[in-house]
Amino acid sequence: MEYLLTTNSLSKAYGRHRAVNAVNLHIRQGDIYGLIGRNGAGKTTILKIISGLAAPTSGDFSLFGKSGRDAAGYMSRIGTLIEAPGVYPNMTAAENLKLKCLAMGVRKKGVIEELLKTVGLSDTGKKKVKNFSLGMKQRLGIALALVGNPDLLVLDEPINGLDPQGIAEVRETLFRLNKEQNITLIISSHILEELSKIATHYGIIHDGVLLQELTREELLKRCSERIELKTSDTRRACTVLERMGITDYKVVDADTIHIFERLNDGGEITMALAEHQVKTMGITVKNEALEDYYLNLTGGAANV
Ligand code: ATP
Repeated sequence: MEYLLTTNSLSKAYGRHRAVNAVNLHIRQGDIYGLIGRNGAGKTTILKIISGLAAPTSGDFSLFGKSGRDAAGYMSRIGTLIEAPGVYPNMTAAENLKLKCLAMGVRKKGVIEELLKTVGLSDTGKKKVKNFSLGMKQRLGIALALVGNPDLLVLDEPINGLDPQGIAEVRETLFRLNKEQNITLIISSHILEELSKIATHYGIIHDGVLLQELTREELLKRCSERIELKTSDTRRACTVLERMGITDYKVVDADTIHIFERLNDGGEITMALAEHQVKTMGITVKNEALEDYYLNLTGGAANV
């Protein structure tokens, strides 16, 4: 499969602390890839490495078919919004964009109006950026990242601190960029619920380690209703399930199987297992909310 970005055992240490630990990401053209993790998980560090703002301690990555070390070969194709957007507060949105266009040698006529329209800031006129709402500043940051027509946008926590309307506007803007201009997006966030409204793929990162990569469908499936079966012998339990005609299941760890069909047949499953001398240690129907799924995976809510 052809990937736009892959990282290969990407690692970054600050002193003895491994902020990013052997991470292997896989992102395709057109994906909206959500990098999800708590504060300090390593998201910003990964995005900085990909954007050429930090160097990995070990490992490497490939972007647009070029080695990560060949930044000159792809830098013009990436737009970034990492940490707070670097804007001049005493200038208007258009003036800020004009400066960035000058700096990047973009001279195309009408480009500033076009960018303002893309992010929904056309009617801000003479209003100075210092008087913008946080959401407007964030959208200006996205417009600045779009100068030069990038194929990939790298956005670090673009919805952090925004009110619900601001979140909806930023989300809508990003969605349009992806759909209408086929821009690939990598978006970091610590709020899975929000990311789930836009991302097509997810990388769940915790303590610098990539715990899981999964598609939107897989995520929704894992959070959907299921039977959670605890047994001492998952291998034999799977054979029994198959004999019962149950195929939509997943072994999640050494003693747990998730079954996504025949949710009312818990009793029947327990009996069938018993007939084949497979001990059932627990069987419950669960329906996990997205946020719970993520918290369970990353070790509970204690230090979110
Ligand atoms: P946040 O949303 O809080 O920024 P994050 O997932 O983006 O979280 P990073 O900013 O990548 O996490 O930080 C990962 C770890 O690396 C943290 O423990 C952080 O303290 C540490 N770290 C990041 N930058 C530096 C640095 N320049 N020097 C030392 N440690 C750093």
